[in-house]
Amino acid sequence: MKSIISVYKIGNGPSSSHTVGPYHAAQTFGSRYPDADSYEVTLYGSLAFTGEGHGTGKAILSGLPGAKIVFDRETREEDLPHPNTMLFKAFKDGKEIAATRIFSIGGGSIRIENESSEEDREVYPQKNFSEIVALCNQEKISILQLIYILEGYTLRDYLRKVWKAMQESVERGLVADGVLPGGLNLTRKAKYLYGKRCYNESADVTMNRVIAAYAYAVSEENAAENVVVTAPTCGSCGVLPSILYYMYKDRGFPEEEILDALAVAGLIGNVIRTNASISGAECGCQAEIGSACSMAAAAVAQLYGLSIDQIEYAAEIAMEHNLGLTCDPVGGLVQIPCIERNAVAAMRALSSVNLSRFLYATRKISFDDVVATMYRTGLDLNEKYRETSHGGLAQIYREEIEQQ
Ligand code: SF4
Repeated sequence: MKSIISVYKIGNGPSSSHTVGPYHAAQTFGSRYPDADSYEVTLYGSLAFTGEGHGTGKAILSGLPGAKIVFDRETREEDLPHPNTMLFKAFKDGKEIAATRIFSIGGGSIRIENESSEEDREVYPQKNFSEIVALCNQEKISILQLIYILEGYTLRDYLRKVWKAMQESVERGLVADGVLPGGLNLTRKAKYLYGKRCYNESADVTMNRVIAAYAYAVSEENAAENVVVTAPTCGSCGVLPSILYYMYKDRGFPEEEILDALAVAGLIGNVIRTNASISGAECGCQAEIGSACSMAAAAVAQLYGLSIDQIEYAAEIAMEHNLGLTCDPVGGLVQIPCIERNAVAAMRALSSVNLSRFLYATRKISFDDVVATMYRTGLDLNEKYRETSHGGLAQIYREEIEQQ
């Protein structure tokens, strides 16, 4: 398996391939040619056709301010090396000094033409979670120790950046007002939910309301095309930060322990990405929200000092009860059902930990089993339910609008 770094990408929402990847590509190219006096970026294929609606231009400008952006809708996809191709050019004194093709290959990852990337490096010899558990048991080490032995302690610096970006996305989202872009006229709800305390609210209701508000905050930031962290995708970016932010701000867990939880959650995301998929287009929403829910459950289990078995079972429960979840975003926007779904998944992650704490010794299904099941189920899902907006809520909503 590769490094867990590639599970967490910081960039503009709402789409890992259409905004986070292009943002990274722009930043990477700009850092190579800082002396250029102007830049031009040509977008091809899917980026050219849907990039305007997805905010690809805004994401590129965040990484490469002032760049001229061209949408090339003439070049046919079969003539491109990748469906999400970008051509970056740098100019100085009116002359082209560099031209590089960069591909947004999914999950916020990029590939630079004719270059191998650090991201391609195999970091974990283990292929799945059971091999990780076996090694931890054999060496009498924790999952966390295994992660740092294989990844190196520099991973922590990256996780600190990720955590900072997650906190900022919660905090920005909690104070923002207004209507989200895209035409659905959906108002932001995080601030309202956060401030809606009843005088006789129980501690449990407060906890769920506050966690939901944090999840809304991040997911609304994503929908507003602002900076979020893929965890593991943009569509599911609210689940893990909401839980971690709650544990940090409201439960007083120290930052260092939050970073540990982030590492363990990252490993869970990594196992899913390696053995199944984290893409709604490939396997439906179970691959996005199901994965995020598993990651958040594992993070909480780690924070509470639960055993490897309990961490695994928490992640397994969280995924198992998202199996079959379809991806049917209304209007092709990452808003309905996505934003609310992040909040529900965050609460479900907590319930999964509560069950795993007591019942782990009786379980029959391993985390690897449920990951394999998710993948098979995803491949069996009708295309209508894999991010095409042709079925489910997207279809019903469209029909209702047409009838009005
Ligand atoms: S419904 Fe689709 S777009 Fe929305 S979060 Fe789920 S997988 Fe992502």
